[in-house]
Amino acid sequence: MLHDGSNAIVVDPGDAQPVFDALARHKLQLAAILVTHHHADHTGGVAALHAATGAPVWGPASERIPEPFTPMSQGDTAEIEVLGLRFQVIDVPGHTAGHIAYFLPTTAAQAPLLFCGDTLFSGGCGRLFEGTPAQMLASLDALAALPGDTRVCCAHEYTLANLRFARAVEPGNDDLTHYNARCESLRAQGQPTLPSQLATERQINPFLRSREATVLRAVRAHAELSADAGEADVFAALRQWKNDFR
Ligand SMILES: [Zn+2]
Repeated sequence: MLHDGSNAIVVDPGDAQPVFDALARHKLQLAAILVTHHHADHTGGVAALHAATGAPVWGPASERIPEPFTPMSQGDTAEIEVLGLRFQVIDVPGHTAGHIAYFLPTTAAQAPLLFCGDTLFSGGCGRLFEGTPAQMLASLDALAALPGDTRVCCAHEYTLANLRFARAVEPGNDDLTHYNARCESLRAQGQPTLPSQLATERQINPFLRSREATVLRAVRAHAELSADAGEADVFAALRQWKNDFR
């Protein structure tokens, strides 16, 4: 949820009740509902919230989410007038075929914001349920090109589990070691590790670093890759390694 003290937007409400509770607690009007992809844990609360508040819904143009909604794709802008916010839509297929992300450039003194659903997690990325490794790699490249001070609002708090894998890939990455310690401390205090920062993700997230020599070496040591394996093959092997990692 993002709000200015009077109006709020929510992104990917998997359940309506926590949103109703937060609106009541802070005395807020719901001005918009943004949806990144069709999975139930991102859309389960949309119909009830829309029915109760009339808040307009924005969602991915090529996916089925609760009607009615305004279909959005690459280059579209979601303008929430009461909050003075203009989100830019970025196509990020991979986790699902029509997944989109919402990017809010710098406003006033605030750093940019990215709502990336299940595409980019802190220290990790979403599973490839509907897209190809090449698509996911291109989607992550597009997100990695955003400004370094972008606050990355991932849809799940998977950070510590992701970092356990990241450290197996890059045990010698000092930025990763320090970030892991910071996140462990936050979680021990019951605090979220999110939002993350894009500049940090570029330093510690193996899925944004699959072209780095250290990551490349680790993937080749772990998986059988042909001599002419391309970037998407390396990324696919890295993703498969994470799928199997315990
Ligand atoms: Zn999902």
